[in-house]
Amino acid sequence: MSAPLPRRSVLSALGAGALCLAVGTAFAGGSPAGLAWRLRGGRVFVQGRLEDRDVGIDADGRIVLDGLTAATVAEVVDCAGRIVAPGFIDALADRAGGDSRVYEEYKLADGVTTALELHGGVADPGAYHFGETRRPHRINHGVGAKVMAVRALYASIDARSRQIERALDGGALSVSHSIEYQPVGFPELLTYARIAARRARPVVLHLRYSSAALELEGVREAVRLARESGAHVHIAHLNSTGGTFAPEAALDLLRAGLAEGLALTCCVYPYGFWATYLRSRRFDPGWRERYGLDFADLEVVGTGERLTARSFAHYRQSGSVIVAVPDGTMDIRRTVDLPLREPFCLVGSDGGMKRASGPNTHPRGSGTFATALRRAIDTGLGLEYMLGVLTERPRALIGRPLEDRGRIAAGARADVVVFDPMAIRNLGTAAKPVMRSEGIDAVFVNGRLAYRAGVLDAAGVGIRGG
Ligand SMILES: [Zn+2]
Repeated sequence: MSAPLPRRSVLSALGAGALCLAVGTAFAGGSPAGLAWRLRGGRVFVQGRLEDRDVGIDADGRIVLDGLTAATVAEVVDCAGRIVAPGFIDALADRAGGDSRVYEEYKLADGVTTALELHGGVADPGAYHFGETRRPHRINHGVGAKVMAVRALYASIDARSRQIERALDGGALSVSHSIEYQPVGFPELLTYARIAARRARPVVLHLRYSSAALELEGVREAVRLARESGAHVHIAHLNSTGGTFAPEAALDLLRAGLAEGLALTCCVYPYGFWATYLRSRRFDPGWRERYGLDFADLEVVGTGERLTARSFAHYRQSGSVIVAVPDGTMDIRRTVDLPLREPFCLVGSDGGMKRASGPNTHPRGSGTFATALRRAIDTGLGLEYMLGVLTERPRALIGRPLEDRGRIAAGARADVVVFDPMAIRNLGTAAKPVMRSEGIDAVFVNGRLAYRAGVLDAAGVGIRGG
């Protein structure tokens, strides 16, 4: 791990003795009233509000809120000046086939305790969970049923439908499709969405269009899909696909659908630019007109190189190059701040990272949640409001599989983040995208201390639907 430790976190968490830890010691006593941890003196996010109180974690990894004074405590964490919140839930994580240890370390450092790959996922979630439970995980993890992968395996819609049903039985948390990348007709989409509706699982869509001329057609299609299928339809990264050029109109369409009684949500990542593989369909002929950009606007992620017509053609063949459009291409005040004021909009990273170094991601992969908090504090949207966005909203999207997580409540699984609201931020850029977030002091996953200015434990478990 070559990333430097965030200096302010190290100082605040360790230097001043703010965290009084003796990691690895046995729990004292072992009496039924004994607590493994007591998080003392923090501002705690409980039932949508910040309040001053202590939080206990018992030996089973469950949260205890009452009777803390009388309980025997193995370890005390002084949380004065810190926020104590449910660990963040990234419903739009993307491991991108990379090293899961690296990916999970950076998610953990960003305060994420549950990362769900619902933009896509896998064709066979049963096999995924069978394999993944045999390996240690830093954080909780789960996947959607990836329609693109299912379609690659089976030719007929009947066979594809059966596999999607098997995927949901095997623990898929969503039915997910990227229509722009693999266009399918509406009737086929509707077939899959009806399966999702019957199993009470959301349909997660990367919409069909990302151009100024057509983006709203993609939003209309998502609303129609919710109406005709009865499924909850979640629009992935509305800021980059569907609501880039006319976000006000896109939100109007969603509000109208909700007023009809449809189940609709969306998410955004808190950045003013997008990045993707140069080989992506996004860069099929006509991209300069679609996005109003030219070759020199494209920056190679990780190196900062600007493209020319010649290098564009070369890199598009080579496959692995990711390019970013200029910061400000998406007006963050309209494409991110505006949707996040709506009760139906979440924050999702749409990213991970394959390696700790090198051009393999957008800064959203490692920094989405710290960045969202920093922006909410700085723009006046509010810390308390954003904590609800990062925890309660994804929890509501996923439903039953997360019913005992994502909140500070007696008996809930202790997925907890402790952070400094003054220091929380992420400094990743397109040129240097993989950065540890700053200001995250400690993260507990299933009641075990998983992070404290560095990774400590692998306490994550699989989150399964079905
Ligand atoms: Zn996407």
